[in-house]
Amino acid sequence: MKTFNPIKYLEDQNIKFWTSGKNVGRGWINIKCPFCEDNTNHLGINLRSGAFSCWKCGTTGSPTKLISTLERIAFTEAKQKAILYGATTIKVAEKEIEEFKMGREVHTLFPPYPETIKNYLIKRGFPEDFKPVTPIYYSYHFGKFKFRITVPITLNNQIIGICGRDITNKASVKYMTDGNNKHSLYGLDACYQGGEIILVEGMFDQWKIGSPSCAVMGSSCSKEQILALYHKHPSKVIILFDPETKAQKNALKLAGQIWFAECEVVELIDNKDPGDWTMNEAETMKNDLLEKPWLNSEGRQLTNTSKKKYL
Ligand SMILES: [Zn+2]
Repeated sequence: MKTFNPIKYLEDQNIKFWTSGKNVGRGWINIKCPFCEDNTNHLGINLRSGAFSCWKCGTTGSPTKLISTLERIAFTEAKQKAILYGATTIKVAEKEIEEFKMGREVHTLFPPYPETIKNYLIKRGFPEDFKPVTPIYYSYHFGKFKFRITVPITLNNQIIGICGRDITNKASVKYMTDGNNKHSLYGLDACYQGGEIILVEGMFDQWKIGSPSCAVMGSSCSKEQILALYHKHPSKVIILFDPETKAQKNALKLAGQIWFAECEVVELIDNKDPGDWTMNEAETMKNDLLEKPWLNSEGRQLTNTSKKKYL
């Protein structure tokens, strides 16, 4: 889990801090508390969690609260700053997700899959022993996510949300979500830091393309998702959305928001949705799109290194 880096922050702010000595516990750094009449170093910041606690006045809280007080700035501004220094300020629906994961009826699936799942995968063009970038959860006919292929949405390898796709085609809602699923991108954790990233719409597109692709889960990207992408420092972002007009419009809009990397929008003319491609078609397309297709996080050595125009 990524946390607030107080040392970097305090250095940049020219605030004196102590890493050892009086009042300083192991795994903490201390500063003069801005919440009380502290004339030494009673406020400790925990290096693992980023949370602070003052020995003298008992004030505790998040990096955002501390920054807001130290710099006398608004909470929203402080929050942005905390994020810049690595804080994850997302309230996680941990309890619900934990319950979902631990629930008696929820199973993590591995091949060979149960018949219903296997048939569904084959129908969608996946091999019957297909292993996606994350585990698949399935709760059979129990609970809120019944009859749904469910995947975890993670941020820094921490589950922050889940998304389940109905496999009966009878549910009124195709995709059901829980937690903060729009605070990260599905598959992002498996993408290389500093590498090329292909942005796709849904989990099945991600499954077809594989790494280094990740799904925005819909065709619009939230600002938290853009921030999560930014933290990967991609060398290039390739947006590969469905061919419909609305999706293409969203792709162009999104490209305008990606200021931190070279960005390319792929226009699929007379083509199927990436999720409907065969595994081979997807592999070919991926190799065409990436400048360094041999450098993907599955570590495979790919031989096709030519760059072609795509239609
Ligand atoms: Zn204090």
